[in-house]
Amino acid sequence: MKKFISFLLFFIFIINFSKAQTAPKVLPQNSPPKLVVGIVIDQMRWDFLYRYYDRYSAGGFKRLMQNGFNCENTFIPYTPTVTAAGHTCIYTGSVPAIHGITGNNFYDYAVKKSLYCSEDKTVQTVGAADDNGQMSPRNMLVTTICDELKLATNFKAKVIGIALKDRGAILPAGHSADAAYWFDNKTGTFISSTYYLKELPKWVTDFNSSNAVTNYYQKNWNTLYPLNTYIQSDADANSYENLPFGDDQKHFPYDLKRFSDKKNYGIIRSTPYGNSLTFDFAKTALIHEQLGSDAITDFLAISFSSTDYVGHAFGPNSVETEDTYLRLDKDLRDFLKFLDTQVGIGNYTVFLTADHGVAHIPAFLEKHHLPNGLIDASKIETQLNEKLKAVYGTDSLCMMMENYQLYFDYSRIAGKELDKEKIIQTSIAFLEQQNGIDRVFEYANLQNAMLPQELKQQLINGYYPNRCGDIIVLFKPGYIEDYGGKGTTHGIWSPYDAHIPLLFYGNGISKGKTFEKVYMTDIAPTLSSLLHIQMPSGCIGKAINDAIKK
Ligand SMILES: [Zn+2]
Repeated sequence: MKKFISFLLFFIFIINFSKAQTAPKVLPQNSPPKLVVGIVIDQMRWDFLYRYYDRYSAGGFKRLMQNGFNCENTFIPYTPTVTAAGHTCIYTGSVPAIHGITGNNFYDYAVKKSLYCSEDKTVQTVGAADDNGQMSPRNMLVTTICDELKLATNFKAKVIGIALKDRGAILPAGHSADAAYWFDNKTGTFISSTYYLKELPKWVTDFNSSNAVTNYYQKNWNTLYPLNTYIQSDADANSYENLPFGDDQKHFPYDLKRFSDKKNYGIIRSTPYGNSLTFDFAKTALIHEQLGSDAITDFLAISFSSTDYVGHAFGPNSVETEDTYLRLDKDLRDFLKFLDTQVGIGNYTVFLTADHGVAHIPAFLEKHHLPNGLIDASKIETQLNEKLKAVYGTDSLCMMMENYQLYFDYSRIAGKELDKEKIIQTSIAFLEQQNGIDRVFEYANLQNAMLPQELKQQLINGYYPNRCGDIIVLFKPGYIEDYGGKGTTHGIWSPYDAHIPLLFYGNGISKGKTFEKVYMTDIAPTLSSLLHIQMPSGCIGKAINDAIKK
């Protein structure tokens, strides 16, 4: 036995000795993060990082900007620049032409009906007796980075998606997520669907019974700082702002207490407290689901929807928007501190980006002599159908104008034995005459369009067969669809809608920045490289090399 042990030790020595002599020097592998936190700020323009920079705290946006990697010129490579397509693109590294989420709503010729991006009538709401939970990621045709993390860990990684908007939670978390949770206006609670679970976990029902919304309403909404210090914003009250809190509430301070009596839970979305509520829920999820507590990387995908509701109502130059970002920054600071304590500094990786930006309110632009205008899409649709009826003798040939596209009724065209191509050409000629419409193209002929190559590519990237119209309309920059002359929106290719922030921070991330143009589609492959996992199944982006620590 002794002899045998000596022989064994000698043998081990020889093996190690030869390894030391011949094996290449391998640098120790960085240990992967225990947790990745994806943060999408719904409707955050890139310039908001700098517009309010002076008043951001040291620990929020600035912490990510100064200690992480900042991609200053990140663009959305498709149109329409809307929430569902944005969240899907961030997490799939893909574009509507491949992932199939061509808008928040789109007509699907394959099933002959209008679809909401995440609707799924085969599943039921979990956590409430209404239909706001009949949602799943099934309309999304590819995997997300979260699905790939699941595949790479033999489904041991935990993945949770959270947002007020169902689409902001569901699409990022992907097909194989443990759960996605979103906010139900009817009950004022977070719900899910039978796609993920049969019943809500206890921590969710406990959170839901904590009266969180009503407690936020008790705080009302006044500005964090004296009103006259909001020097980045237009006057507090303007005739071109919407009045989401009632016609009698035209400016700060906003009385929110009244909404608890009326059980109007949905209005929290249009206040900064919607973001705070999302942070509260995300922290609770992290603790109770034990995210980031073992060596297998988990993924928490959070989207902050209130910035979008506030932005639509008041515009990017409002005190409301400025105050919402200053409050979001404080919430973000607290959340990062929470991650430091719960998961540990160096154990997590965060990225922060946006699904799209937003246009200035046209009436605000008008005040400053900047190009602007309103386009009444429903009026154009009606007049187009009148024109088509006059020429072809048939009603309602155009079914809808959605996502800047015109959808035609193919069965009606076929039934009347009309020439589809002629109808399209008549429509293009009519649409080109309309005020604010710059150019009109047939998707089928886009390759030949006289347009800058990159813009043409953006339009092509937004096209998925059966889920798009035949015609795409280009609005002039500064023009938006008219929603009653108040508020604003987003959706076109222009930088105000398509230039988004992108910050990486934490485990595996270099400190620095790049001014090179990168794309929303590059986020998922960067994470794939960082985590050493496969890219999502529709990914067309490339890893942002400088962001990853070598
Ligand atoms: Zn929006």
